[in-house]
Amino acid sequence: MLNYSIDADGIATVEFDYPGKSQNILNAASMGAYAETMQKALADAAVKGIVVASAKKDFIAGGDLAELGAATDAAAFYRDISAWHRLMRAIELGGKPVAAALNGSTLGGGMEIALGCHYRVAADNPKARFGFPEVTLGLLPGAGGTQRVPRLVGMMAAAPLLMEGKRIKAAEAQKIGMIHAVVAAGEERKAARQWVADTLAAGTKPLQPWDMKSAKIPGGGPNTPSGMQMLMAANAMLREKTYDNYPAPRHILSCVYEGLSTNLDTGLAIEARYFTNLVMSPVSKNMIRSLFFGMQEANKLASRPSGVPQQTYTKIGMLGAGMMGAGIAMSTATAGIDIVLLDTTQEAADKGKDYARKQWGKQVQRGRMTAEAMEGLLARIHPTASYADLKGCELVVEAVFEKREIKAEVTKKAEAVIGADAIFASNTSTLPITGLAEASVRPANFIGLHFFSPAEKMPLVEIIVGKATSDATLARSMDYVRAIGKTPIVVNDSRGFYTSRVFGTYVSEGMALLEEGVPPALIDKAGLIAGMPVGPLALADEVSIELVYKVAQQTRADLGAAYVERAADRVATKMVADLGRLGRKSGAGFYDYPADGPKHLWPGLAEHFPPRVGADGTAMISLEQIVERLILVQSVETVRCLEEKVLRAPIDADVGAILGWAYPPFRGGPIGWLHTLGLPQAVAAMDRLATQCGPRFAAPKLLRDMAAKGEHFYA
Ligand code: NAD
Repeated sequence: MLNYSIDADGIATVEFDYPGKSQNILNAASMGAYAETMQKALADAAVKGIVVASAKKDFIAGGDLAELGAATDAAAFYRDISAWHRLMRAIELGGKPVAAALNGSTLGGGMEIALGCHYRVAADNPKARFGFPEVTLGLLPGAGGTQRVPRLVGMMAAAPLLMEGKRIKAAEAQKIGMIHAVVAAGEERKAARQWVADTLAAGTKPLQPWDMKSAKIPGGGPNTPSGMQMLMAANAMLREKTYDNYPAPRHILSCVYEGLSTNLDTGLAIEARYFTNLVMSPVSKNMIRSLFFGMQEANKLASRPSGVPQQTYTKIGMLGAGMMGAGIAMSTATAGIDIVLLDTTQEAADKGKDYARKQWGKQVQRGRMTAEAMEGLLARIHPTASYADLKGCELVVEAVFEKREIKAEVTKKAEAVIGADAIFASNTSTLPITGLAEASVRPANFIGLHFFSPAEKMPLVEIIVGKATSDATLARSMDYVRAIGKTPIVVNDSRGFYTSRVFGTYVSEGMALLEEGVPPALIDKAGLIAGMPVGPLALADEVSIELVYKVAQQTRADLGAAYVERAADRVATKMVADLGRLGRKSGAGFYDYPADGPKHLWPGLAEHFPPRVGADGTAMISLEQIVERLILVQSVETVRCLEEKVLRAPIDADVGAILGWAYPPFRGGPIGWLHTLGLPQAVAAMDRLATQCGPRFAAPKLLRDMAAKGEHFYA
């Protein structure tokens, strides 16, 4: 766990060396070992000073999230944290100089250990990052970070580090005063040791700035005019951005304000309370489960069929050089894979490549990419109108128009050229894969790879397994998704698959609320307050109301008598067929889009969907009820997807929702939210809403049974 040695001059080296892992992590075991070793060194008269270092390529990657995620005993947790604070104070006030040699990335608890040393020197390692990612998982730097960082660098410079989880490079960390020096890589231990030796030679007692008589917070403390101003602005900005859905940044701000109003020791006690509160909160448990463990599992391809050799890709074919085709081509080229970009004419194919040039060009302009790197990437994209160029492709992805006949035609033409083993994937957003595979001569090699727009940026790919799709095709497709750095979830074939189907319920519920007479401004604001990035009506405009209308028509045609008309279908029909308001693309939807100003709600909505308000002018439904409906409608549909085995695992639902349509992570995901509510409570809410609003809220049998048996989706 830790290596410990003492040299001839009495300078001890305490080296983190977590067994069996490539990174040092902090948990009960490694923190216990550190405490024991440091206490021994402080008590040993033969030890004059201490260097803290790492045997791995980085210093310390952070805390053990499995341990934090599992913590449930608040009193025990608070006791452990307080003991940790006492140890750090003993090191700071122990009279022996202690220096940290930071050879690589130093994050979270690792940075806090370093801050608890008198001196910090970092290697000039371009890959190393310094900071506190805790807030991104609903936590705060709870080993003194909220107290030591602002006391060192000032509240202003501390804010992005603590409240946004911003990671910085060594030079910047030195510039703001979080570390003392940066030296050539490999020299950091020597420099740390030198500082210890110099301090011993000078005979001065090592002290942290906050323990000196002259202690002063850079830029002023919380009760100075500048500090007050900064805190007020930070508070307001936080509320505007998060609608107070995320307790972590709010608690961090409280730690800074309350903690810096007093001395360090009281500040640490304050921090320990807020930290314990966050660790025990469902928000951090949700974020750790979905954003960390769920994502990690998906990226490790935990659900990849076993026994299929890993496929490496060198040449991919892309049919359709439109918006999606160009984006997928960019992602593929970025991964170092050649891509044949095919469209109906050479000119249309070239247009797709031009899109890539334009997007990458912006990055070159901003200094994020060199011109040579851009040329290298562009050289991998081969625009063409000739199917013969697809020869040798290991995989062909189709993103032509959303028309069955066109998709069938390009499938046949491509399969005539590519090898018998090659995979054919469709990026369709609505057409069932099993049906499209009928055009294929080898349906076992046919699969759905559903990208999101803009494809070069969006991290999720929904992989759709058709009836005939083989395990080998699935496994090899997953290898492609990972090769281009995206996160896959695997779903079985069905109408709307998983993401479009559940995402669609959010938009539809907004439209149903409008038909009921809820003021549109209230509906869209409720969406934001619920934590969604965009209100449902604004979103309908973005994806186009026409699309909602067309999907409704198609579903009606496909299902015949089994089709049940929804409020959203009536609203879409009125907007599109009667009023010609198709959404943003036509400049008119639920909103107006004036050329000379920001969009605003279309005043005509009041005439076509008269608001039902009480005598006092307020809506007949409360904000909380709207939020509940907009969120729960997604959960009900997600459970149906699990019940129908469209989804294979609850965690896929949660990861897919967060990455696919920016579902609010604080809720964990549509399933994570049911877990948070408690399944019996969720069923009761659904029963109430089903009575009020109709069967779309009816609790699925799966959920009812689980609730009755006391079962859970997650441990
Ligand atoms: P688009 O209209 O921007 O591009 C389609 C391209 O296909 C055009 O360049 C067109 O010239 C080309 N094309 C048409 N017929 C062809 C043929 N026979 N051979 C070769 N090329 C042909 O459309 P898009 O938005 O890129 O969507 C493409 C596909 O991706 C559709 O199936 C769509 O449902 C799906 N999709 C779209 C989104 C989205 O947000 N736009 C998201 C996921 C999936």
